[in-house]
Amino acid sequence: MDYGMIGKIEKAKRYAQERGRIHFKSFTVAIDGENNAHHVQFTDGIWDCDCEFFRSRGVCSHTMAMEEVLKDMLPVRTEA
Ligand SMILES: [Zn+2]
Repeated sequence: MDYGMIGKIEKAKRYAQERGRIHFKSFTVAIDGENNAHHVQFTDGIWDCDCEFFRSRGVCSHTMAMEEVLKDMLPVRTEA
C-alpha cells in the first residue's frame, strides 16, 4: 500500500472516533417492526416516520431506535 493511502486510513480512523465532526443532513432507513417495515426519514434535524404512532405523537419507537443507534451523533432534540 502506498504511503498516501496509509495516511488517509489513519485519518479516517481518527475522524470516526471524533464523532462531533460528523453532521447528518438527511437519511432514510427502513426498520423492520414486529408487523411491518417502517420508513424513517431524517432531514435537517426533523424526523418523520410512516407509522401511525408517529402521526399522533411526533415520535415513535422507530425514530427513538435511530436516536439510540446514532446517539452523540445527532443534534439534541428539543421537545415540542
Ligand atoms: Zn414509527
